[in-house]
Amino acid sequence: MRTREGGAVRKKAGRSGRGFNITRTRRVVRLASNVAPTCRDCKESFGSNPINLEEQINHYLGHGYILLHIGPDQHGTMNITVAMLGK
Ligand SMILES: [Zn+2]
Repeated sequence: MRTREGGAVRKKAGRSGRGFNITRTRRVVRLASNVAPTCRDCKESFGSNPINLEEQINHYLGHGYILLHIGPDQHGTMNITVAMLGK
């Protein structure tokens, strides 16, 4: 999955002193395409029919999180997509 947000993250990280500093990370969130969680910051419930990982990622970006990783994972025999965000 490619996102515009992913490109923006790489640009920001290149700027010295202004980019995402992993050593100052206070919170990391893991999102998965098979789970419809509740937002940890504002308790908003994400829809589950269907589960929309893009909506969840964009929601957390709105809270100031940075997309750290997005890629495939396995849940039992099911192939899923996971995203890690931090701030
Ligand atoms: Zn929220």
